[in-house]
Amino acid sequence: MKALTELVLASHNAGKLKELQAMLGDCIKVRSVAEFSDHEPEETGLSFIENALIKARHASQVSGLPALADDSGLAVDALGGAPGIYSARYAGVKDDAVNNAKLLEVLREVPDAERSAQFVCALALVRHAEDPLPILCEGLWHGRILHEARGDGGFGYDPLFWVEEQGCASAELPAELKNRLSHRARAMAQLKQRLGLA
Ligand code: IMP
Repeated sequence: MKALTELVLASHNAGKLKELQAMLGDCIKVRSVAEFSDHEPEETGLSFIENALIKARHASQVSGLPALADDSGLAVDALGGAPGIYSARYAGVKDDAVNNAKLLEVLREVPDAERSAQFVCALALVRHAEDPLPILCEGLWHGRILHEARGDGGFGYDPLFWVEEQGCASAELPAELKNRLSHRARAMAQLKQRLGLA
């Protein structure tokens, strides 16, 4: 792949843009899709990767530049991977406390041995909107769903996600440590390697 000097991130979130720019360093200038369009494409895929690809292709189409998109969430094995791509609105609303309460309720009768889960982060990078050979990376962070919330750090399902190696919930980890262990860190490490930056 030709060396990338500029790419568009398919996100309107300024925090995500800053984090990605810091990670990729000065060689690649990261711009937001918000510079080019307010429209967000419908995420019609059934997997994290499909939705990341839809967002990356859209960002590339409106900007005319190479584009990167991410999609992430929690997949619980006993629930066939739910909440999955619907993680942000599992209970029908974008409210972490309500979504966590629903997850605890759905898993109420499920014993510890069957509460395995993973956070997933999919990344898709396309050189142009119709790129037939996108770079696809997937980072998984394995854990188990607790019976009640612990810790007040992080966001989303972090208070319910038990991290065996650290012996605590991901909401109890210092942010800097979570950012090194997480699904996002794992997917980003793969991407850097694929781009020859690692
Ligand atoms: P998004 O891809 O940033 O929109 O994340 C989708 C949803 O997945 C979030 O709203 C959270 O509910 C969940 N999620 C993704 N990453 C994490 C994480 O690191 N901790 C907790 N929840 C997460």
